[in-house]
Amino acid sequence: MFCYQCEQTARGTGCTVQGVCGKDATVAALQDLLIHATKGVSQYAHRARELGAKDRDVDVFVIQALFTTITNVDFDPERLQQWLKKAAAVRDKAKALYEDACTKAGQEPATLTGPAAWTPAGDLDGLLAQAAEVGVEERRKNLGEDVAGLVELCTYGLKGLAAYADHAHVLGKEDDGVYAAIHRNLEFLTHDSFQVDELLAAALAIGQLNLKVMGLLDAANTEAYGHPEPTVVRVTPVKGKAIAVSGHDLKDLEELLKQTEGKGINVYTHGEMLPCNAYPGLKKYKHLGGNYGSAWQNQQKEFAAFPGAILMTTNCIQRPRPDYKDRIFTSGLVAWPGVKHIVDRDFSPVIEAALAAPGFAEDAEEKTITIGFGHNAVMGVADKVVEAVKSGAIRHFFLIGGCDGAKPGRNYYTEFAKAVPDDCVILTLACGKYRFNKLDFGDIGGIPRLLDIGQCNDAYSAVKIASALAEAFDTDVNGLPLSLILSWYEQKAVAILLTLLHLGIRNMRLGPTLPAFLTPAAVNVLVEKFAIKPISTPEEDLKTILES
Ligand code: SF4
Ligand code: SF4
Repeated sequence: MFCYQCEQTARGTGCTVQGVCGKDATVAALQDLLIHATKGVSQYAHRARELGAKDRDVDVFVIQALFTTITNVDFDPERLQQWLKKAAAVRDKAKALYEDACTKAGQEPATLTGPAAWTPAGDLDGLLAQAAEVGVEERRKNLGEDVAGLVELCTYGLKGLAAYADHAHVLGKEDDGVYAAIHRNLEFLTHDSFQVDELLAAALAIGQLNLKVMGLLDAANTEAYGHPEPTVVRVTPVKGKAIAVSGHDLKDLEELLKQTEGKGINVYTHGEMLPCNAYPGLKKYKHLGGNYGSAWQNQQKEFAAFPGAILMTTNCIQRPRPDYKDRIFTSGLVAWPGVKHIVDRDFSPVIEAALAAPGFAEDAEEKTITIGFGHNAVMGVADKVVEAVKSGAIRHFFLIGGCDGAKPGRNYYTEFAKAVPDDCVILTLACGKYRFNKLDFGDIGGIPRLLDIGQCNDAYSAVKIASALAEAFDTDVNGLPLSLILSWYEQKAVAILLTLLHLGIRNMRLGPTLPAFLTPAAVNVLVEKFAIKPISTPEEDLKTILES
């Protein structure tokens, strides 16, 4: 196997024997083949669309197949083989759509090669043999390291935005232009040769597309559940039966809250579900008991200690330990072999497991944090914020956000947040916030010094806040007293990074390490164009930022 799509890749170069994430060679190969097959679907879907023909099932399949291959989503070889079968069927549907559109237009259909011509092998060994011919290793051999890395940059950006598109789709929000652009980009990635410049342009265009998708998701979330509002959330458990919900899927949480109403079960958010406590449409449920635990990489310890049932909605799942494997459940696209998968949001098995488990024996000491500073809440006090900047009460804003992970180097973000001077405000989002969100940062004239914007899925909020501040100060985002200190882990973070680059944001600091798929040559281009920097030490970075 060869995989270098996430930050924790082995030795910082690539997982070759077993994924650090727990993905084995079979799963890695099936995921590679699924990406190949999905490109084949888009080769036809893109051409059909050029002739005015489209099919929503084809479109939705493509975003779900891409999302399925994101780090920490699907570890189940059986399920991945089903995805591959479906890919062949959807590809045939897209082919028929294209050929029919050609007939109607009086054109001769082109005979497509590459992924479009893939026929699934009849058994697992055959599929693995096919995968070996279409994986990242082959592209590195055929295209060279620099170009193959940029092809992967585009692919990972598409995977990330597909995840956001799927979350929006789950809540009924779709955009036909987004589907068209995804097909167009996937088709482009099937070409035999590339210029570096066209790949960089494609990557930035994917960042632009991701901004649109994140806007769609923001609308989906806020129209379904209202705008997040500043909310004090309990982060210690109370006595009683319990379910912890992790992942990113608000709809799953809502349905679970409905199905557990009146059953004497407290539902806790975990990981990236924490921001759900701030949505009016979710916090209205009295048995939403607050947040349990911290970021995804601590789940094995935290779930083992959780005396109830656990629901894992989308990423990021880790190998379930035997002491909780029979009381953890997956939903949506996430899957682990041997873990019961919930179908059609019928959470009865989760509820039964919660009732059978002991629950918390007593109330823990009450501890709370404040969350819910999405764009609507922050822009509601924009006058106050602008005034505080003009008066000098607020000197600088730091957006310290992104994914968390297990590497010791991620302590940088805790140390950085602690070292931010008292006259500066910290904005944060995504699971990296757990590095410091239980510390007391106080306030500046009533404005909290730590503003939690939400999930990684809420990066759109951060962009909106930055844009509104830029407008208020009659400058652009680079002209603001704002610095971005980013932590990345998987492909959603890649999509967000591409969006920030598309917006022309300069001087971002990225860590804990730079992506393995970007060669020094590619990194140099980003440094030259965007002055992007790897993190150094909190002291040095703070000094440089505040003195520049
Ligand atoms: S997703 Fe990350 S940890 Fe998992 S195999 Fe790929 S690079 Fe390795
Ligand atoms: S922010 Fe990234 S690493 Fe963290 S839970 Fe979400 S997808 Fe996973």
